[in-house]
Amino acid sequence: MVELALTPGAFQYGRGLVSRARLYPHKEAFVMTTLRLRCSKSRTIKDFAPIDPNNVRMYVCGPTVYDRAHLGNARPVIVFDVLYRLLRHVYGAENVTYARNFTDVDDRINATALARKEAGAPGTLEDLIAERSEETIAWYHADMDALGTLRPTHEPRATAFIGQMIAMIDDLIAKGHAYEKESHVLFRVRSYSNYGKLSGRSVDDMIAGARVEVAPFKEDPMDFVLWKPSTDDLPGWDSPWGRGRPGWHIECSAMAHELLGDSFDIHGGGNDLIFPHHENEIAQSCCAHPEGRFARYWLHNEMLQVEGKKMSKSLGNFFTVRDLLNRDIPGEVIRFVLLSTHYGKPMDWTEKKAQEAASTLHKWHELVQGVEPAALDDTVLTHVANDLNTPGALARLHELAKAGDAAALLAAGQFLGLLGADETWWRPKEARGDAALRVEALIEARRQAKAARDFAEADAIRAQLSAAGVEVVDKPGGLSEAVITDAFNPDLLG
Ligand code: AMP
Ligand code: ZN
Repeated sequence: MVELALTPGAFQYGRGLVSRARLYPHKEAFVMTTLRLRCSKSRTIKDFAPIDPNNVRMYVCGPTVYDRAHLGNARPVIVFDVLYRLLRHVYGAENVTYARNFTDVDDRINATALARKEAGAPGTLEDLIAERSEETIAWYHADMDALGTLRPTHEPRATAFIGQMIAMIDDLIAKGHAYEKESHVLFRVRSYSNYGKLSGRSVDDMIAGARVEVAPFKEDPMDFVLWKPSTDDLPGWDSPWGRGRPGWHIECSAMAHELLGDSFDIHGGGNDLIFPHHENEIAQSCCAHPEGRFARYWLHNEMLQVEGKKMSKSLGNFFTVRDLLNRDIPGEVIRFVLLSTHYGKPMDWTEKKAQEAASTLHKWHELVQGVEPAALDDTVLTHVANDLNTPGALARLHELAKAGDAAALLAAGQFLGLLGADETWWRPKEARGDAALRVEALIEARRQAKAARDFAEADAIRAQLSAAGVEVVDKPGGLSEAVITDAFNPDLLG
């Protein structure tokens, strides 16, 4: 059950103590949802209390944009999308800020650009590098949109924050936490006594266990790169240490600080990033901004695996989200499959899971046709608020479906990013085609009515489309665009 606190007087707003309560007018009482999250840093499940309930802030490490995202990369996107939706539900959509970066400084991006240049592509190497990042970001957006994920509030690109990275590195040198040697700047790991707290290892264990690069310019093998020189044929930026580029870890520290401040609520990513990436982010941020606490809760998703091994580009055991979409596996089905396992457990993709998800979703879509969503079911909310127990939430959706409670099923599905009205894949092919053709025909009829100055008719057609959940946006030059909203109901197209 969601914890209920029925005496409004018992509430404390503001810093720390309890999450902001939401008012459900139909219950005539405050209902408080206690969020519980497993924090990797404390290794315990803790009640979540934001620093500022009016500005709940989350940072998630995003992709390096050198190629299509594989299915493993989609797992954190979906997991943190559920958390984002939950936070918006509890604290109000306008009170949640979610930043997820694009790493667009990377040797693999450069390599593709260079290969294209050598193959005779027009433009400078810099243009071709930018083009490769743009192209990959557009694919990423298309693929993640297809999985029903909301775009974060901020999607910073590393190349747009080089100034902030340089300033942060400068500050770390001034404070004695970093040093310059042979045009490199390195972080002095031994200067930060809490190093290793996140992954629970001592520096000496890490040196023994990790393949750390020993380089002549390092004081200590554990020290990691904040800035490195660029050769003339690589992208580079002027800095106090010569022309060069940032190390990967400093990118996230600088962008998180710029967008979310010294202290923010949640930092997320896959658990393959705990060491060294997140350990290094913590060291950099806490040493540069000792007055802040950096991230207060650390959340990590487990890996999507293939036969017991992490799906990864480097192992070559991957397929992309686009591969699945191209095989006519709907994004909604992929999302359902990923939500069926708790984020803290490893999981496999199987065709059997996909078939079962498709058949369940098909039934659910039929059930919710023409239904208005009810208020969000408490049990579903409680499951998701309990450390994102999405399998528990889906089990409850099965119960709601079995009980024929279509309105509750629809609300709960939409809360999880499922059962959107624009999902048409489950309809018979003819019906899908019909709806699209019908929308097109109505838009054309309206255009003709406007051209004939029959504005009453044009307005009537707009109203009919709107009633069916299609909003018409007029564009310059007499063109109109049809926007399919969540309320789309093709049966009302007439
Ligand atoms: P990358 O572009 O490799 O830095 O990865 C982007 C995000 O995907 C990071 O949050 C990684 O932790 C995550 N990730 C990479 N591989 C997997 C996998 N097989 N399963 C789950 N998450 C993954
Ligand atoms: Zn990061």
